Amino acid sequence: MKADVILPTLDIKQAQSVRCMVDQAHEVVMVCHVSPDGDAIGSTLAMYHVLRLMGKRPWVVTPDMPPRSLGFLSGVHDIVVASQKPWRAEELVGRADLIICLDFNAMMRLDKISGIVASSPARKLLIDHHLYPEGFADLTISHPEASSTCYLLYNVLVAAGMSDMIGRDAAECIFTGMMTDTGGFTYNSNDPGLYTVTADLLRRGVDKDKLYKLVFDTAGESRLRICGYAIYRKMIIFAEHQASVISLTKSELDEFEYAKGDTESLVNKPLAMPGVTYSVFLRQDDDNFVKVSARSKGHFPVNKLCELYFGGGGHENAAGGEFYGTLDEAMCRLVEAMPGFDKYLPENPEK
Ligand code: 5GP
Ligand code: MN
Repeated sequence: MKADVILPTLDIKQAQSVRCMVDQAHEVVMVCHVSPDGDAIGSTLAMYHVLRLMGKRPWVVTPDMPPRSLGFLSGVHDIVVASQKPWRAEELVGRADLIICLDFNAMMRLDKISGIVASSPARKLLIDHHLYPEGFADLTISHPEASSTCYLLYNVLVAAGMSDMIGRDAAECIFTGMMTDTGGFTYNSNDPGLYTVTADLLRRGVDKDKLYKLVFDTAGESRLRICGYAIYRKMIIFAEHQASVISLTKSELDEFEYAKGDTESLVNKPLAMPGVTYSVFLRQDDDNFVKVSARSKGHFPVNKLCELYFGGGGHENAAGGEFYGTLDEAMCRLVEAMPGFDKYLPENPEK
């Protein structure tokens, strides 16, 4: 199917060398960041489907489990999850002659598989939209202005003359990443190109309504109750800092029979309040480990907050990090950080 490159900043020559790298490879492994989201899984699986159509032997290897909410995506059950089958992950990465790195900018983000990927002699290709990519790849295609890696990947595939290889399965994966990294086209989503690509993906068989419902509007009882409880009981508003913080302890998570993915999108909810410019969610996964998720509106840089205080990073409006210590200590660290970030607050938050 004919398609056009939509991303104006794309270096066509660079994209065409992707085709050469792929043509020369036989065993191709796709990898993405730990705690993979829709864009990470969408981009790796899209590439997997494209390569299968091209007659290659592709594998997707992830550091840990994909979220349950993406269990409907074609190919998701073929993913080799390193935390479950470390020997298999090692074997596949070890014999790959091309490793395609998608949706991350630093080796550290590969968590437990960073060592085997870094030491692999395979050629490496990075396609990503995070700021400041490390220089570990033989070819780096980095476009922080793209709202998702999936949107970037679509453009790369088209520019590389591989658009005929984007079948319905790959199109669904690409659409899923474009949709999840823009919160269902509610932020970072004013680029008209997103809708040109969406139109093309619809023509390739994507059922947009079905995918939206599956990703954003499908939840088990535990997920609904835990989100209700978190907002009702555990949300603290720091009005002077235009901030909201939600925290959940390990015992609360256990009480609600928390399963991975149950609190996804919870961090976005407080942004519904006009006076809240940024929202942070602290989830105590272990006695001594807290996962941090942050979201913001406008130009409030939650990536800086996560980088400086929680060893993490991400995008201006969506970032995350980690804290080794108790939940109370994580909360104290965050509260200490707040005054230093007042300078980024809008004078008149939306009323
Ligand atoms: P989430 O809050 O959905 O877990 O993550 C949002 C975004 O923040 C991710 O897409 C990723 O870019 C970034 N992110 C989340 N956790 C981390 C982390 O621990 N380290 C870094 N560098 N980035 C993170
Ligand atoms: Mn992404």
